[in-house]
Amino acid sequence: MPRPIQALIDLSALEHNLQVARRASSARIMAVIKAAAYGHGLLRAAEALNAADGFALLDVRDAVQLREAGFRQTILLLEGFFTPDDLPLAAEHDLACVIHSPHQIAMLDGYPRRGSLQVWLKVNSGMNRLGLQPHDVPAALEKLKAHPAVRDITLMTHFSHADEAAGVAVQLEMFNALAAPYRVARSLANSAALLRYPATHADWVRPGIMLYGTSPFAPGSGDSAQQLGLKPAMTLQSRIISVRELGAGEYIGYGGMFRAEAAMRVGVVACGYADGYPRHAPTGTPVLVEGKRTRTLGRVSMDMLSVDLSALPGTGVGSRVTLWGKGLPVEQVAHAAGTISYELLCALTPRVPLVV
Ligand SMILES: *Cc1c(COP(=O)(O)O)cnc(C)c1O
Repeated sequence: MPRPIQALIDLSALEHNLQVARRASSARIMAVIKAAAYGHGLLRAAEALNAADGFALLDVRDAVQLREAGFRQTILLLEGFFTPDDLPLAAEHDLACVIHSPHQIAMLDGYPRRGSLQVWLKVNSGMNRLGLQPHDVPAALEKLKAHPAVRDITLMTHFSHADEAAGVAVQLEMFNALAAPYRVARSLANSAALLRYPATHADWVRPGIMLYGTSPFAPGSGDSAQQLGLKPAMTLQSRIISVRELGAGEYIGYGGMFRAEAAMRVGVVACGYADGYPRHAPTGTPVLVEGKRTRTLGRVSMDMLSVDLSALPGTGVGSRVTLWGKGLPVEQVAHAAGTISYELLCALTPRVPLVV
């Protein structure tokens, strides 16, 4: 029998969450499926999200895989091309490319293939990660418009605070001012902006995390997934593989990070950081055993973690454990571990089978 850990992928939840995005915005939807669809499995997630108008990801090999699987939507490479060698491949498979830096525009010099490229010109509106400086945009746009290989241009930017109180106002204003003179399509919104700021929707919205059923807002700082009507698409499950009665004063795990105040019952779960569960999740991180909420105890080790069964009579070896997903939002686990849901979903390791 294989080790009992698995990630259940609910494809109908992906479809449902895409509908939530549709209801929230009349813009075209670019479903962001980078990082193997945030850990959910690239091709299956793309199939479940097939009603999207486009897909965005990073790796040209993944994009080619989507084309070969028959997807006809716009496919956008979020970091564009890395070397001139990528250009023929992008053209052959009709992959739209983000252009975020002057060196990429220079790479287009001498690229002959007429009308073969769709480009998304990225503007740095304050994130200061990728994107042309605003004062460089007019000249870049003119150059791209005049370039024989460029068929179509979309102007895009990315928000740094859409999920926080600071919001999008400053970036939105600067982007709109910059884009105003041009008749090009525009794209700004990630999940948080899609859900909170309709003024950012423009022509294309780019939801990622919400499609996987997770709220982009930190617990306590905005709407929860449930309040937003989102359904978790991944449930990470395993089982109790050992039970131990602990006496008062005894410790658990590496470093003895947890000490029992009184006699208690402890279950050992087949899930550890080598599965992608965060090692820095402290004692008290929420977990479900047979659907009932309890807490982790002590340090997470490579292949195992311990949970408190004291208040859960009837549980024992073989009991089902939910690490996150249905009944336990991954946001809550991430919050307890000092990180965000995105990191936990993407960090699932290849040894965990994805089961639909
Ligand atoms: C990842 C990404 C998104 C999606 O962000 P979410 O917060 O997951 O909705 C959108 N746009 C760009 C450029 C991205 O890199």
